[in-house]
Amino acid sequence: MGTRAPVVDHGPRTGAEVALTFDADMTDAMLASLRAGRVKSYANLRILDLLEREQVPATFFLTGKWVQRYPDVTRRIAGNPRFELANHTYGHAAFTADCYDLPRLPVDELAGDVAKTFEVIKPYGGRQTRYFRFPGLCHDAAALDALAPLGVTVVDGDVVSGDPFATAWKPLVRAVLDHVRPGSIVIMHVTEANAAMTDEALPHILAGLRERGLVPAPLSEVLTAP
Ligand SMILES: [Zn+2]
Repeated sequence: MGTRAPVVDHGPRTGAEVALTFDADMTDAMLASLRAGRVKSYANLRILDLLEREQVPATFFLTGKWVQRYPDVTRRIAGNPRFELANHTYGHAAFTADCYDLPRLPVDELAGDVAKTFEVIKPYGGRQTRYFRFPGLCHDAAALDALAPLGVTVVDGDVVSGDPFATAWKPLVRAVLDHVRPGSIVIMHVTEANAAMTDEALPHILAGLRERGLVPAPLSEVLTAP
């Protein structure tokens, strides 16, 4: 025993680079809401518009079910040389107990779930990575052991924007700018209906980073900064 997937929550605290990461959650319940017309979209195109317009690098943690629901948006992400693609499980299930109210899968299904998600993402090409983020950031030793054979790096993050189910954008800006430092990994969501304030907060977050002399960079560059 002894091998365990490594976990990172930030890069070196030197330099000026920070990683903006966006999770693309998708559960069966979310798919049902889309089908029933209860929500319009879980893909926030205003975030992509802004990042593209301002030429800002970012890293997207994609669930397999989100990719299958939004193939065109996935193509758009993969087609941008500033964007990296990473893995956020197939259907956003939890692999530990008491992880918010997420549906739960047994830990012995974790490696298969994550491998399947890489297979879903891979055909889109672009900047593929072996980064993986647990739903709800919930993980334990058993879950990390299970992922070791896949050669993934588990990415938590040190700056939680708190954007899920936010009803105002200012608290998100404050949450990010109060905690961001060189090497930080900022956690946000691209899921629109479940994170409706993120696109409104983002211009202010980008401006605040500029004021602090911090520069968004792809996660792989933030983690390998000298
Ligand atoms: Zn998530």
